[in-house]
Amino acid sequence: MPMLHPVLRRATLLLCVIAARDLSVHAQVPAVALTPAVVVAGSPELIRVAAGDAASVDGEWLGRKLQFFRGRDGRTWFALAGVDVEAPAGSSQLRVTARLSNGGVRDLSHAIEIHPAHYRTGSLTVEPKFVEPGPEELKQIEADRLLKDEVFAVSANEPLWSASFRAPVTAPPTDSFGTRRMFNGKLASIHKGMDFRAAAGTPVRAGNSGVVVLSLPLYYEGNCVAIDHGLGLFTLYLHLSRIEVQEGQRVATGELLGLSGATGRATGPHLHWGVRWQGAYLDPAKLLRLDLSGVR
Ligand SMILES: [Zn+2]
Repeated sequence: MPMLHPVLRRATLLLCVIAARDLSVHAQVPAVALTPAVVVAGSPELIRVAAGDAASVDGEWLGRKLQFFRGRDGRTWFALAGVDVEAPAGSSQLRVTARLSNGGVRDLSHAIEIHPAHYRTGSLTVEPKFVEPGPEELKQIEADRLLKDEVFAVSANEPLWSASFRAPVTAPPTDSFGTRRMFNGKLASIHKGMDFRAAAGTPVRAGNSGVVVLSLPLYYEGNCVAIDHGLGLFTLYLHLSRIEVQEGQRVATGELLGLSGATGRATGPHLHWGVRWQGAYLDPAKLLRLDLSGVR
């Protein structure tokens, strides 16, 4: 090796170090990344797959099908998914397969740890008919269930949302998602949404763009609106005093859906906001914190 001037030698060494660091950075870019990175029961998760050479990406997680779409940059694939509030903690297998343009298949599956979530326990008092419904009420509850099953079984086959989700009301939120609730000291249920302390008559707006798939009174939910955001993702707006949209109507982010109220099983006026993905109930507060502005 020829002798180098000490300054040149230092410069060469430095270049080598930079080159090595650059290589290691590239080697560490994960093909699949989840946001939020710490996964708990109730987390919505944005799954990002770096596969510019893929013609399609598909997957499955916790028994639910992942539907990927191409992001704005054309090289990254995304799925907006999540873990149900009642999912047990432990290891899970995230299955992701990229089908390449050249006919090849890349398996990007790996284990994802679901960490325990620490939700509180609370008790509430409501009218007795909501805890021990009579035969007539039971009939309506069953009819509601069948209707919801039918409605939520169908979703647009492309994302209808764009950019980040927005809070549906201008009112203080409560930290009540996931709370195990006792009604009148008897019935236990899990609170599968986020309550906002909205006075009756507060305008309720679409959290993102989509299509209205429910707009009617239901027994527990009261006057209820549900929006399909595509690929199995829905938002629900409960206990409204008034509904201002119709089923089948396309809505934009922030568009008026109705006014808040206390219809159905409610202890007083508030807005209950639910987020549902393929039957899993996700924490709306976490969805609001997801930055989706660069995605689509
Ligand atoms: Zn609620």
